[in-house]
Amino acid sequence: MQKDELKNNILKANINLSLKDLDDVKCDSCGNLYFDSQIRFKRISPLYTQNNKPSFVPVEVFICKSCNKISEELNPHIKDLDEK
Ligand SMILES: [Zn+2]
Repeated sequence: MQKDELKNNILKANINLSLKDLDDVKCDSCGNLYFDSQIRFKRISPLYTQNNKPSFVPVEVFICKSCNKISEELNPHIKDLDEK
């Protein structure tokens, strides 16, 4: 069997999985299962836009509904949002 063919078969098998077979993502600090979706915006300076007006990039961030912690697992992009 070709490597790609094997990969394909694994993908098809995954589609038949039921949600109850899948692991829950839990909050890193309190174990809660529910998250709120929040939007954070980055501003693009008029210097870089076509019409010389500021523009905005929405970034979705998932926050624990119980303790408000930002989940690192669900938000791998969060590290790129702030200066180090
Ligand atoms: Zn939490």
